[in-house]
Amino acid sequence: MRKVIKKVTLLVVICFIATSLFGCEKQMGKQESLATGNIQISYIDVGQADATLIQGNDFNILIDAGNKADSQLMIDFLQKKNVNKIDIAVGTHAHEDHVGGFPEILKAFECDTFYISNTTSSSKIYESLLDVLDDRNISVRIPDVGEELTLGDINIKFYGPLKKYKDLNDSSIILKLTHGNNSYLFTGDAESGVEKELIKKWGNQLKSTVYQAGHHGSSTSNSSQFLKKISPQTVIISSNKEDAPRYGHPHIETLDLLKSLNIQLYRTDKQGTVILTDDGNHYTIQTEKEYSGNLYKK
Ligand SMILES: [Zn+2]
Repeated sequence: MRKVIKKVTLLVVICFIATSLFGCEKQMGKQESLATGNIQISYIDVGQADATLIQGNDFNILIDAGNKADSQLMIDFLQKKNVNKIDIAVGTHAHEDHVGGFPEILKAFECDTFYISNTTSSSKIYESLLDVLDDRNISVRIPDVGEELTLGDINIKFYGPLKKYKDLNDSSIILKLTHGNNSYLFTGDAESGVEKELIKKWGNQLKSTVYQAGHHGSSTSNSSQFLKKISPQTVIISSNKEDAPRYGHPHIETLDLLKSLNIQLYRTDKQGTVILTDDGNHYTIQTEKEYSGNLYKK
């Protein structure tokens, strides 16, 4: 018995030394380099919040950054994904569950341009975001409606906000990212009134391959008309953990609707971080956790 314990201890020590010397990349889940022309989108599990990292061979985009309490988790994730600089950051709107992680992230990583919504807030977290943007000399932009950007072989088009709204959720930045034949729509927490305006303004241009459900899968967003217009193959819901059901997201109405429209569903509350890899034609999805239950149920 003693001998066995000694052998095991020796093995652990050798493993530890080997890990410190050579790294243990695969086991640690460290980012392996992306194949040329591929992009990877990580819908990061930050509980009742949003944070999405989009990476290409030579760029990193971060849309929202979780709550303030997620700051370290986010920094660790970005480091694991070999992010050395954020080319474009987007704070969809001023609520903490979208911009809360940014102040610490922007202290830890360089960032070129930060896109901010046109409706401001006097909340403490938003003020500290503005302070960091200023301190770090980051270029801050409010996107123009219809503005387009090209990074590597992706295109980003800003679809909103279409005007100035009093409501912070409604003032969310709306954007679509296109990579080859695939496209990805992000609408922050914009509610169904805004969805109607977006349909009127953009019509079939809203069609996207993958849609991150609006407002964490709330039934006050994700209207049936809007979902039909987007007509996504896949929807990803970023929402709360089961042990903190403060807002009850995702709502059963949204889950029922997605099921009735036959849309493939992924949920961060059940499956953890959802990682999508796209070569411009096909995309594959991996999840942090296995979930064998019915994702269309609460
Ligand atoms: Zn939110």
